[in-house]
Amino acid sequence: MERDRSGAESRRAAVPAPPVPPGVPAEPPADRPTRSSEPEGPGTGASAAGPARRLTRQQWRNKQKNKRRQKNKLKAGPGEEKETDVEAGTGAGASEPPALEAAPVGRSAALRARMEERLLSARFRYINQQLYTSSSQEAVKLFQNDPEAFQIYHRGFAQQVGRWPENPVDRIIRYLRKRPASLVVADFGCGDCKIASSVRNKVHSFDLVPLSPLVTVCDMAKVPLEAESVDIAVFCLALMGTNLQEILEEANRVLKQGGTLLVAEVASRFEDIRAFMSAMAQLGFKSVSKELKGFNSLDDLLHVKGITTRILELNSQRMTCRRRPSSEEAARAAAEEEDVSGPWEPERAGEGSPGSGPEANGSCGQEEQEPVSSTACGEQEQEEEEEEEEEEEGSCCSEEGEDGSNVYFYYTIGERWIDYLQRTEEGGLLRHVRPKMKRKSENGLDGRALSPGKKLCKGSEYSRTLGPCMPSPTTTFGDLRNAKAGQARRRRIPSVAPPPELQDWLRTFQRWSGPEKLLALDELIDRCEPSQIKYMMQVIEPQFQRDFISLLPKELALYVLSFLEPRDLLRAAQTCRYWRVLAEDNLLWREKCREEGIEEPLNLRKRRLLSPGFMYSPWKFAFMRQHKIDMNWRSGELKAPKVLKGHDDHVITCLQFCGNRIVSGSDDNTLKVWSAVTGECVQTLVGHTGGVWSSQMRDSIVISGSTDRTLKVWNADTGECVHTLYGHTSTVRCMHLHGNRVVSGSRDATLRLWDIETGQCLHVLMGHVAAVRCVQYDGHKVVSGAYDYTVKVWDPESESCTHTLQGHTNRVYSLQFDGTHIVSGSLDTSIRVWDVESGNCLHTLMGHQSLTSGMELRDNILVSGNADSTVKIWDIKTGQCLQTLQGPSKHQSAVTCLQFSSKFVVTSSDDGTVKLWDLKTGEFVRNLVALESGGSGGVVWRIRASNTKLVCAVGSRNGTEETKLLVLDFDVDLK
Ligand code: SAH
Repeated sequence: MERDRSGAESRRAAVPAPPVPPGVPAEPPADRPTRSSEPEGPGTGASAAGPARRLTRQQWRNKQKNKRRQKNKLKAGPGEEKETDVEAGTGAGASEPPALEAAPVGRSAALRARMEERLLSARFRYINQQLYTSSSQEAVKLFQNDPEAFQIYHRGFAQQVGRWPENPVDRIIRYLRKRPASLVVADFGCGDCKIASSVRNKVHSFDLVPLSPLVTVCDMAKVPLEAESVDIAVFCLALMGTNLQEILEEANRVLKQGGTLLVAEVASRFEDIRAFMSAMAQLGFKSVSKELKGFNSLDDLLHVKGITTRILELNSQRMTCRRRPSSEEAARAAAEEEDVSGPWEPERAGEGSPGSGPEANGSCGQEEQEPVSSTACGEQEQEEEEEEEEEEEGSCCSEEGEDGSNVYFYYTIGERWIDYLQRTEEGGLLRHVRPKMKRKSENGLDGRALSPGKKLCKGSEYSRTLGPCMPSPTTTFGDLRNAKAGQARRRRIPSVAPPPELQDWLRTFQRWSGPEKLLALDELIDRCEPSQIKYMMQVIEPQFQRDFISLLPKELALYVLSFLEPRDLLRAAQTCRYWRVLAEDNLLWREKCREEGIEEPLNLRKRRLLSPGFMYSPWKFAFMRQHKIDMNWRSGELKAPKVLKGHDDHVITCLQFCGNRIVSGSDDNTLKVWSAVTGECVQTLVGHTGGVWSSQMRDSIVISGSTDRTLKVWNADTGECVHTLYGHTSTVRCMHLHGNRVVSGSRDATLRLWDIETGQCLHVLMGHVAAVRCVQYDGHKVVSGAYDYTVKVWDPESESCTHTLQGHTNRVYSLQFDGTHIVSGSLDTSIRVWDVESGNCLHTLMGHQSLTSGMELRDNILVSGNADSTVKIWDIKTGQCLQTLQGPSKHQSAVTCLQFSSKFVVTSSDDGTVKLWDLKTGEFVRNLVALESGGSGGVVWRIRASNTKLVCAVGSRNGTEETKLLVLDFDVDLK
């Protein structure tokens, strides 16, 4: 790339061309058409079709259904195998397959193959079910006695998982990759060791048979590892065996305290998800969102049916370590409580009480309610599921498990208390054999049925036995307590008979006036021992916990909820059914969308009743979709980009991207119009007789500026050149389109305003004394930056310059203008902020070391890219530098282009990378592109991004990288 030819220019310009630092943007050659290249043939740039299109979940399900319908048609009749369970986890009751008959003559080999396939898959299901319904010791024998069974099992397993929209093991691998490679992993039931071969961590892989040399053959109930030697234990579709307790204990044994347990299991294996959650929580597994940072549970929300809310619920819990107390501990606890509470005994149904019994150490009260609330969301998904099923008539197969309803739980181990989990006879995952606990009553003070699902509570049994002391004219605390029957009862001390004077004592108390009562209480408190005070607190505190949301009128409740962050709204939805109804409120989510700048709800699914009083919210869906897209940018798997080859070995000098259309301009004298969807080159715009160095686009109109001194207006659909705009006497270096008018800036030191419909030059703006390098036009004012070190503000109608903004001590290369502020970036290393009305310089932003070649300004936030290889984020109101995008992963060479959204900054560089940064924190997120030739010549010249796509113009100055466009897609499958 040639540098600026300053000689010719300085003859015209009063200002001599200064030395240019390395990394300044490419400049066009001398402003005379150097050659009129042959028009290029139609684009050859259509890249090979991208990777096979990913089906949406619905499409995938339909496909599966059609397949099954086809199969059903082929069935001979009754007695045939029923295809009810085709997923790995729901093999319950899978009958032995029918004997394989010879394929009838004339029937296609395909049919035979299909039959064989079915036989194999039936055997797989059979073995799978055996593994789930026998102990792991028996599983060892099973494969020892029949080695072929293992092969069949694994073939079937691979096929099965291959049919799912996503293999959970991949998700676990992605998770592991995000955590430090120093963490030690144990993969229980590792199969083909995909985890071990995909991550850098030390992975201990255990299975019954070695599918890979990495496998340590053993029963996973007894693995050859030291206690507390592992950071992460994984059971990916492998939590099999009826001796579940032993297996989990073994995982527990080898896990370090605070280590992570990952369980991926098929939804249908969870017979009673509520019990499972409760059991796991009480095992001491807690979800610590900090540890999951970077691993996106909302991500799961969209991906994994039926589980997300549960994951969120876990995140919301703060489970303190709890342990079943030994008998001595129970005795000690009893002694400590001094007759206040009886010896610990397992809770009986209906007696769960926050803060009661030995569980009271810590914040257990909350958790006890959670399992119930989790069901609400489970039900939601379930209901949604069922409705979907109902909609699809004629469907006879269970979709569960097949349709991506894999279940993922992420736990961190806290304490060990595994004594009441077992497998069901049918191989269902977990049954909670402890009696379930009752959740705290939801009703309001007076039991008004304010929200769905509320029940009136009975009065306390104890208070009844005690009998009313006196009719009470006012509501006493006792009344309130009695309204919470279950808890109140638990607190009473059944073993102690009421002392005979008690009634008199209480009657006396009740006779006193309010102040007298307070005085008496003061005195009473003074006479209490600490354990008695503690008891009082335990009794009183929970009584003041009110579900005020349910007590408020709906509008007010929604108003309160509107202050919650979306993530907390999702958690709130798990509290109870009524909260869930509120938290699904469409207008509430519309607000959340507004805050995030999401403008349109997606009406892809009809707004329908999911359950009584509970509507599906399109705005919530839009919010979740956007969240998923953001997560894709942040951490989604980077699929191979679409490669759009064109412009031979020339430089791509300008890039436009709008809708699904990309327009690249090049110094090969052409522009190319591409489809961002197919990657096809749709048009090559041929006509300029010099390199194209600037362009603008709106809808299907493209405008280009060239070293041939003209602008051309093109129809991108037809490729036709609609107008050629003559007037400039040197290279057209910059332009800005507004409505039907475009302002062009030229090396001839003038600006021209054109009507692109008529092709007329409306105004000429003269005043600069050197090349005009950048221009902004808001429909009223024109602002231009030039190599004469000045910025000028123009009134185009009168062709007068209203301000000349002086202050820069070198060439001005970049401009932003928001109607009020002008921001100019210069080779003098500073950025200046000016007031357009007064022409005053408001701030001089110092900090960059070199030329600011590109900037973007929105809502007073300015992002500047510099040849010093850093990017800075500024608040132009205060002039403060908020962030500098640098650090160990910083660009290694000049920043060539940038763009920012409400969350991210995307930057490209001469170093051949495109980097993603967090706008708020300034943290490096990741490389979106890293050319292999980066550092040896490969360069990313320009980037343009939409919400879901990133277009990069890449190439090299030395032939190490072919000139091309790369298109990366961050869209999500709509569900
Ligand atoms: N985790 C792997 C494989 C899952 S298949 C993946 O997701 O790709 C379940 C695996 O658990 C099988 O390989 C099976 O052999 C293994 N398995 C079942 N019971 C086992 C036991 N008791 N001990 C060790 N491995 C067992």
